[in-house]
Amino acid sequence: MGTLLIRPPGHRRDVTLRPAATAMVWLGEGHAHETIAVPGVALGAHDVLVAVEMATLCDADIRVLRGGTPAAVPVVLGHECVGRVIATGDDGAETVDGSPVRIGDRVVWLSTISCGACDRCAEGLAQRCRTLGRYGHDRIGVHGDLTGAFGSHVQLRAGTAIVRVPESLPAAVLAPAGCATARAWAAIARAARDRRIEGAAVRIHGADLLGVTAAAIAVERGACVEVRDDDPARAARAERFGARSLTRDPEIVIVPSDDGVEEAVRDVADGGVVVLLGAPARHEPAVIDVSDLARRLVTVAGVQDATPRDLVDAVAFLAGRGRAYPFADAVGRVRPLSEIDDAVGEAIASDATADAPLRIGLVPGR
Ligand SMILES: [Zn+2]
Ligand SMILES: [Zn+2]
Repeated sequence: MGTLLIRPPGHRRDVTLRPAATAMVWLGEGHAHETIAVPGVALGAHDVLVAVEMATLCDADIRVLRGGTPAAVPVVLGHECVGRVIATGDDGAETVDGSPVRIGDRVVWLSTISCGACDRCAEGLAQRCRTLGRYGHDRIGVHGDLTGAFGSHVQLRAGTAIVRVPESLPAAVLAPAGCATARAWAAIARAARDRRIEGAAVRIHGADLLGVTAAAIAVERGACVEVRDDDPARAARAERFGARSLTRDPEIVIVPSDDGVEEAVRDVADGGVVVLLGAPARHEPAVIDVSDLARRLVTVAGVQDATPRDLVDAVAFLAGRGRAYPFADAVGRVRPLSEIDDAVGEAIASDATADAPLRIGLVPGR
């Protein structure tokens, strides 16, 4: 007779951290980040504990820190990150491709967490999961303290799309994969459902990291890509990601949902696709003549968060043809995590500067 091991439901594995993990807690506008020590975590059966190699300050973090997006404080922000697995829960976890996550794996993960079981997840709409979670979003304590990338460690919960990444790629290239790169891939993949990318004229509004990444992805898929930006220096930088000027109306336009939508819809060629990249509303809602859309056979599609498959494809792109583009240079400066408030100040100040880096990297323990 074998031994039957009965584990109580909700069993968690206690992991002690020596030295203690640290996390930068944000208390709200007007407060500096505070460092907390986390001497141990309780891992759920499928949780994964990752030691952060580098996190990047995403535009969405900056919006929260500037008070533009409400947040449940105190919170550990940050959702763009690459790190190394140091522990797993008792039942282990799998990467998106179904292979077991092992200690020592270098990984990235989607910024969103989907249950994998609800009707929307079953329909392939994991990014609209009924119980969608986000890293760098929850008030600390709700899911432990290591819930954002601005710490020495992140506790990945069951339902996180994890992808193993090559050792040969710089951390600065990989850190944005779970947000900017995956979303850029998602935008091009959405357009590809309606129009062939190869040979298409593509216009992208905004030479931010998302924009230049989407440009490089579309160029590598055979498109001719133009990146529009109010600032000529930023638009010029997009040329290093393969952008140039279009000589005809675009069949595909990628545009942030908060700005430039009317122009995008007006300029797209008949039969074309406008992909709206979800962003918090900043301006008056766009006014679109829907009968004009119908007459011109124009599709308007929305994309906000990426799917696990988008992340897999985005990492494959960075590890493959994406190596030809200066993604490592997009992170202009790497600073110790302890200098996060200075880094945020630098990011806000540089927002107005055309040649400012697209990301600032933060590295714990330096
Ligand atoms: Zn982001
Ligand atoms: Zn779900």
